[in-house]
Amino acid sequence: MESTIAQKQTFRDQLPTADASGGRRWLYPRSTSGRFTRWRTVVAVVLLIALFAGPFVWVNGHPLFLFNVLERRFIFFGVMFWPQDFYLVAIGLLTFIVFVALFTVVYGRVWCGWACPQTIFMEMVFRKIEGWIEGDHNARKRLDAGPWTTEKVVKKSLKHGVFFLMSFAISNTFLAYLIGRDQWLTLITDDPAQHLGGLTAMLVFTAVFYLVFAWLREIVCTTICPYGRLQGVLLDKNSLLVAYDYIRGEPRGKRVKTGPSGGEELSVKLCSVRQSTHHAQKGDCVDCKLCVQVCPMGIDIRNGTQLECINCTLCVDACDGVMDKIDRPRGLIRLDSQAGIEEGKPFRFSGRILAYSAVLVALLGLIGFLLVSRPVVDATVLRAPGQLFQREPGGHVSNLYLVEIINKTYRPMPVQFRVNQPGASLRFVQPIASVPAGELIKGSFFIQLPEKTIRQNSTPLRIDVLAGDEIVDQIQTTFLGPVK
Ligand code: SF4
Ligand code: SF4
Repeated sequence: MESTIAQKQTFRDQLPTADASGGRRWLYPRSTSGRFTRWRTVVAVVLLIALFAGPFVWVNGHPLFLFNVLERRFIFFGVMFWPQDFYLVAIGLLTFIVFVALFTVVYGRVWCGWACPQTIFMEMVFRKIEGWIEGDHNARKRLDAGPWTTEKVVKKSLKHGVFFLMSFAISNTFLAYLIGRDQWLTLITDDPAQHLGGLTAMLVFTAVFYLVFAWLREIVCTTICPYGRLQGVLLDKNSLLVAYDYIRGEPRGKRVKTGPSGGEELSVKLCSVRQSTHHAQKGDCVDCKLCVQVCPMGIDIRNGTQLECINCTLCVDACDGVMDKIDRPRGLIRLDSQAGIEEGKPFRFSGRILAYSAVLVALLGLIGFLLVSRPVVDATVLRAPGQLFQREPGGHVSNLYLVEIINKTYRPMPVQFRVNQPGASLRFVQPIASVPAGELIKGSFFIQLPEKTIRQNSTPLRIDVLAGDEIVDQIQTTFLGPVK
């Protein structure tokens, strides 16, 4: 009990992953099972399949996802985006941030424990591989503490070999998202000498993933990831999180039973507790520390909400198992709010949650409108630099313009340009009849105006871009003429 009090007083002064001298304290989380673990496994399997399949799913001959930064080509759920659509990406990112913030206010770090790729790969892939090769937490601890025997060399080599292969698979998937399925296939099947840059990138990504999952592990969540740092300002007393019911659990301690000789108290093992425990003075926590042993972040949730907690619910399952054994109701550690624990208040929507929801709905509406109204052809027209105007025969004045046209669809797009000004005519230097699917083409054209219609040195003009008979873009520009 004294050590528990001492720990309560000092736990905020030290990192769970650092020893007294500041060195790394390696964690050996115990495996557990339960309803939340089963659901997390289902969610993880679905997300892993989606993640690995993502770059290889094509619909109507086009990838579903592509994030080709080098060639500035982006496809999201089959819709093609160009750098010119960056305002949509910015609004989309803003929406995503508000969405995550809203979720954090309401559901705590549910993203971290259930959907973050770092947690899914670490806990559902790499930690599982480690357990299969090296055994459960005690076996792993013994192996690390012991001398370098043949068994240790074999197990460590095998584990790190599999880790490297897994990192290689993740790296290839990541690369396929970046450069696309076909370029990735060329990269791995072609002569390596032709693709030194791509192969180097593949090895660098592999090394980074291996470093993250073999060595950094929980440090990514506790020290590197900015979202974890934000948690403290996003949570409030009504946020749903993994919480220990200290009112029910304290004072914690081993159960005691009255022995056959009468009056003598002795500590008992959990499995024998059921028949003769009494709960008069003690809370429901039997201080078995299973919740601490299963925690992948190395924390004791009984100390209260902590920055390190990723809401993985492993401690909930571990504690529920203990409560089942001692015939107490489940939920000593459960998903609840601080207010719910302290005051027995049911979960409710606070004003802050409603405000966040309103902002989120408005942003979703805006991004939906912008997506629907996004032109399928994007044209940029600029007057040729260094040129003013030219006088032409027949009393005309002309200006030279440079044009860039992007076709954001998957089919060739016939285009025409029309100047919305009486007496004006437009003449391409090299005619552009259509823009190939998903391509950007450049050209130049002259606009001519009768000199007698020019009233100012800079005349505003509107150029309509037509695909067939439909106006798909409108461009405002100016026409320079002789000063009157
Ligand atoms: S698992 Fe439950 S009973 Fe065991 S120490 Fe944790 S809170 Fe207490
Ligand atoms: S305290 Fe519980 S929910 Fe939080 S990280 Fe540890 S095991 Fe997961």
